[in-house]
Amino acid sequence: MSTVQIPNLIAGEEAVGDGFERYNPADPAELVAVAPASGAEAVDAAVTAAAEAQPGWAALPAPARGAILLDAAEILRGHHEEAARDLVREEGKTLTEARGEVRRAIDVLRFFGSEGWRIGGQVLPSSLPDTMVHTRREPVGVVGLITPWNFPIAIPAWKLAPALIGGNTVVLKPAELTPLSARHLTEALVQAGLPAGVLNVVHGSGAVVGEALVRDPRVAAVSFTGSTQVGMRIERAVQERRGRVQVEMGGKNALVVLDDADVEQAARIAAAGGFGLTGQACTASSRVICTPGVHDDFVAALAKEAARYRPGNGLADGTLMGPVVSEQQLATITAAIDQATAEGATVAAGGEAPKGLMLAPTVLSGLSQENTAAREEIFGPVVAVLSAADLDDAINLVNDSRYGLAAGICTRSLAAAQRFAAAVRVGVVKVNRPTTGLDLNVPFGGVGDSSSNTFREQGAVAVDFYTWSKSVYLGWEG
Ligand code: NAD
Repeated sequence: MSTVQIPNLIAGEEAVGDGFERYNPADPAELVAVAPASGAEAVDAAVTAAAEAQPGWAALPAPARGAILLDAAEILRGHHEEAARDLVREEGKTLTEARGEVRRAIDVLRFFGSEGWRIGGQVLPSSLPDTMVHTRREPVGVVGLITPWNFPIAIPAWKLAPALIGGNTVVLKPAELTPLSARHLTEALVQAGLPAGVLNVVHGSGAVVGEALVRDPRVAAVSFTGSTQVGMRIERAVQERRGRVQVEMGGKNALVVLDDADVEQAARIAAAGGFGLTGQACTASSRVICTPGVHDDFVAALAKEAARYRPGNGLADGTLMGPVVSEQQLATITAAIDQATAEGATVAAGGEAPKGLMLAPTVLSGLSQENTAAREEIFGPVVAVLSAADLDDAINLVNDSRYGLAAGICTRSLAAAQRFAAAVRVGVVKVNRPTTGLDLNVPFGGVGDSSSNTFREQGAVAVDFYTWSKSVYLGWEG
């Protein structure tokens, strides 16, 4: 496999550079991609290019903008398998997961490409005679997009597509660990005919490139997905200069298993949500709350499921779980497991020393709500199992969290499911389904420290963040 030099893209010009070397997490000898460690001057040039291109892009009819997104979807479809394999080599997830993620990026481009025929305003009655009132959606201008490594093609797609269809121009800063996946998406958009300067990509560190983008007063809006620590800092910085900001951050998502649930099925759901994607999903089921009648059987069933998720190279047939993304992430996860055991947790599955970045799925039981592993995001294949007296107690435990992204429940009772859905303070509720996995036409976002909780991403409402509403009173005489 060859190493790819990933360039910056500024005003339609590509420029390669050194600085970030990405090795395959399943095979550390393989250098997958090299990307530039850009400085603040690259951000400045990219924002200038985006500002110059913005009026022309906004003047293009929305269906014409959409046509470019639809063409980009077709181009990416032509590279589906190559992009999926590169995603596995770069990020580590399994080929099945990667194919699904690239498919998601294609479908997101299609969805928002078609929105070009639909986005518009309202026509409203006026109190005045011979007057019509309508609203227009105006683009916010230049937007900065900052994305994480865990969905390295889908997340850039679900930010870029609504931004572009809304008439904005973009500066994208992909995650340092995953420049190649972002490149597959942006190359498809360029090949589809996006005019120079409409999409600019600047690679580099969060501290240099990310900070410069967040602080540039010409960047009217910043959309960020990543950790809570970084997201809150970005939110404050953009609000200080009165920019528009959307941050989607971490979670400590709970799956509740009630006494009436099918235990085997609940264990499969918990494993898919907790160990699928190597647990490196913002909506991962990282805690399970069981009522007393199922607790012990559930722990045993989940430990059995964990044995199926033996980590391996995502490109190999039959691999259900890939490696952890990096040494740094592995160190964070193993430190969290060590802390949990020091606080008295029992290791019901896993616990072996990792081989390279291959970490066995881990089930922790015997924890209380006060333990760190029950409260803080671990972002790895680790599930903490807790006990609750009944449904009300379980709901209290779900809500006793700084986060509020996703929550699930396994039950045969429609009444319990409905009560749960109404009572939990989270952005996404799943009943008898894993907490991970979202439909692209459905609004997505969290509450609490999981999200700025102002605008939602995904679905048609995603365009709201990238546009503002203007009211026009149109009068005539006679
Ligand atoms: P991260 O916060 O470390 O980095 C995310 C992005 O921010 C990267 O591009 C990084 O370079 C950039 N960045 C870092 N410091 C910055 C700064 N000071 N200024 C500007 N930009 C900066 O997150 P990560 O490790 O890449 O991703 C994992 C996290 O993302 C987890 O917490 C996960 O829950 C979260 N996540 C949330 C969602 C969601 O939709 N809620 C989806 C996926 C991932």
